[in-house]
Amino acid sequence: MEKELQKVAEIISSSKSMIAFTGAGISVESGIPPFRGPDGLWSRYDPKCLDLDYFHLNPEESWKAIKSIFYDFFGEAKYNGAHKVLAQLEEKGLLKAVVTQNIDNLHQEAGSKTVYEFHGNSQRLICLQCGKSYVPSEVNLNELPPKCVNDKKILKPDFVFFGEGIPETAYRKSLQAARDADVVLVIGTTGEVMPAAMIPTEAKRNGAVVIEINTEESNYTDGITDYFLQGKASEILEEIYCLIK
Ligand code: NAD
Repeated sequence: MEKELQKVAEIISSSKSMIAFTGAGISVESGIPPFRGPDGLWSRYDPKCLDLDYFHLNPEESWKAIKSIFYDFFGEAKYNGAHKVLAQLEEKGLLKAVVTQNIDNLHQEAGSKTVYEFHGNSQRLICLQCGKSYVPSEVNLNELPPKCVNDKKILKPDFVFFGEGIPETAYRKSLQAARDADVVLVIGTTGEVMPAAMIPTEAKRNGAVVIEINTEESNYTDGITDYFLQGKASEILEEIYCLIK
């Protein structure tokens, strides 16, 4: 492993257009569980609360689960060492962008500037009628569903529900960054959620070196991954960062 870490640090140091592609695993050490697996969120909540049609028909019921998962629970989370190292790599000029599937805002809180939010962000709420945007602290979540002060219409968290399309700008910019990338760091994702999962594949097709960090093998490991570093995201990234000159 030591030799591999050294090699990966060298690849990162000489990269020109590296991106990171992150999933729920990077936030596990911040206390946010992934969706799947024995401790995943779907073992406790019904995924239908995030289905767009269900939300429109049952806003109060959907909002009860949404509040519990994304505001009472996520709300307390702080960024961890893995988020911090990505922000430091960007600051050093070694990372062009983070393409994230996460909706927890932790990359931005750690200091990352160029973040493409493939699935939106839970820290924004949008009026479905007039488009007015709110941060959670501006909204009274004791009365559900929360409503817009302008037109009293329902607010929706600004992340992608099941049955909803990917935000166009994030999609376009992520794909372009993947095509331009010479290295892609794939961190804490199973690679099962489409179309996000095609980002590393698109980078690889255009010649990028794929470095994967995960506690378990993923859909990428036996296919497109060049270097698989098994372990917790913060531990591996902090070790790599120490080796970068
Ligand atoms: P996933 O839940 O399918 O898989 C998580 C991956 O992280 C697994 O491969 C697992 O082995 C790995 N992992 C777990 N702990 C890790 C650690 N400490 N270090 C490194 N890797 C670790 O996640 P996904 O592939 O991102 O897909 C799930 C979807 O759910 C995404 O679309 C995402 O938007 C959403 N989601 C987001 C959050 C969040 O915002 N934090 C949380 C749960 C789910």
